[in-house]
Amino acid sequence: MAKRNEIAISKKIPVLDMSYEVKELKPQIMDAIEGVLDIGAFIMGQNVKKFEQEAAEYFGVGYAVTLNSGTDALVIALLASGVGAGDEVITSPFTFFATAEAINRIGATPVFVDVDPYTFNLDPLLLESVITSKTKAVIPVHLFGQSVDMDPLLEIARQHNLIVIEDVAQAFGGQYKGRKVGTIGDAGCFSFFPSKNLGTYGDGGLLITDNPELAQKATMLRAHGSKKKYYNELIGFNSRLDEIQAAILRVKFPYIDDWNEGRREASRRYRELLGGVERIVLPVEESYAKHVYHQFTIRVLNGRRDELQAKLDAEGISSIVYYPLPVHKLPVYEGQYGSYPIAEDLSHEVLSLPIWPQIEESTQQYIVQKIVKALQ
Ligand SMILES: *Cc1c(COP(=O)(O)O)cnc(C)c1O
Repeated sequence: MAKRNEIAISKKIPVLDMSYEVKELKPQIMDAIEGVLDIGAFIMGQNVKKFEQEAAEYFGVGYAVTLNSGTDALVIALLASGVGAGDEVITSPFTFFATAEAINRIGATPVFVDVDPYTFNLDPLLLESVITSKTKAVIPVHLFGQSVDMDPLLEIARQHNLIVIEDVAQAFGGQYKGRKVGTIGDAGCFSFFPSKNLGTYGDGGLLITDNPELAQKATMLRAHGSKKKYYNELIGFNSRLDEIQAAILRVKFPYIDDWNEGRREASRRYRELLGGVERIVLPVEESYAKHVYHQFTIRVLNGRRDELQAKLDAEGISSIVYYPLPVHKLPVYEGQYGSYPIAEDLSHEVLSLPIWPQIEESTQQYIVQKIVKALQ
């Protein structure tokens, strides 16, 4: 076997290497796609129906509604819960823009609370300080694969009659106190974007809920607001999951728990290898959470993050900054928000290292060796 050093020269270490799963599952995936072609039902066929049943079973929920994307899942979950124009929705300023965008998209206003510097998740104890008579919902984002501390959040939400919509785009299969995230609030919204822990080979999304009215409204909204074709009752969307994507997801779905274990294993190795390295803060795994490490995100102190990233790049190691700007600092919101200092600090310090379920220990050793060298 060639040494990592030699490989690194010819092939850069990516942040996510999907070639392992493609190699393992390609024959099954090609069969599944061929099956769809042979049957010839491309929209709302058997694979979509079966995947929805399988997802409802996996999560132990009443309803699983597949959609076109995670972003649409958030938009549709908000609308189906009765959130709309003029309402305020509280969320994290340290997330992918889609969380806040979904709130604006339905005419509501995102309201932010700052995050915890060790988990990167919104601090539920800050919720109360921003609740107004207009506050209608809260969207906890289980960032990088780790659950938000849901019990205090639910208590405040209950007291103020707020709807809780979980953004689970990065935490498929993650848990909070033994319960799967996405099943804790009124609805859970997932993304099947290719790089997510469970991704398809295109776009896709899922909304899960135990609330029959919410599920029915979401099901109508995804198909032009109709229960019965050509008898439209609501202004909806075209937001269905493609049959081919559903067929691919059904091949990959049985592997998700093993893949998440692989990510957890890899994160344990990173912790061992990086433990004691100065100027690096490791992500904290809370005892209430089963973290599924969509990202393994370290903080690099003393303003050396960009330098470290550049040096790793020069050694053939990719890394990525999630997120270089907190949401409230995005150009689209210019001048609209005040300061969320922890989210702002994090945007200068975070660096997500290569991680995927099958990443080899030797690759991680090589990466850490170069991190140590770069920070000397
Ligand atoms: C990926 C992601 C989304 C959006 O999902 P898409 O399927 O890409 O629309 C929403 N929220 C978070 C936190 C995400 O990471």
